[in-house]
Amino acid sequence: MLKMFLPSEHVKSVFEITPESLKEKGIKGIITDLDNTLVEWDRPNATPKLIEWFDNMKAHGILVTIVSNNNERRVRTFSDPLGIPFIFQARKPMGRAFRKAIEQMGLKREETVVIGDQLLTDVLGGNRNGFHTILVVPVAQTDGFVTRFNRKVERRLLSFFKKKGMLQWEDQK
Ligand SMILES: [Mg+2]
Repeated sequence: MLKMFLPSEHVKSVFEITPESLKEKGIKGIITDLDNTLVEWDRPNATPKLIEWFDNMKAHGILVTIVSNNNERRVRTFSDPLGIPFIFQARKPMGRAFRKAIEQMGLKREETVVIGDQLLTDVLGGNRNGFHTILVVPVAQTDGFVTRFNRKVERRLLSFFKKKGMLQWEDQK
């Protein structure tokens, strides 16, 4: 049961995820979380490095949809300048937003990876709905109000997986 919280892969940041590494796995599209996955939860816009990352994905034909539990204003302000489709108030780990995203991209779930910084929303939601999942280390060590509670549960899950040798995760200071 706890395995539902175990990501298929884990990386330090999205910048470790390349079009080549995705294509090797037959992945054609990305569903990515926004807050603390792409940028700090309180940073309104993408960084130049992140814009480059998106451009590189696009150049390789990898489709991207931003799927966030945050509100419309936050997600639209971030996504619109990039021209990237988005879904706000996604209610992850519920599956509806994930299904909507792959439908819009015209992809199957096995062709799509779910990327995020939280076990309880991104990884659980992705796993439960049959996606490949990649956990990233949160960009910032602070969180918005709702996330703070989830992090407590998450820390226990991460330490459990570490003890079992299922996950090598570097503790944050
Ligand atoms: Mg997040």
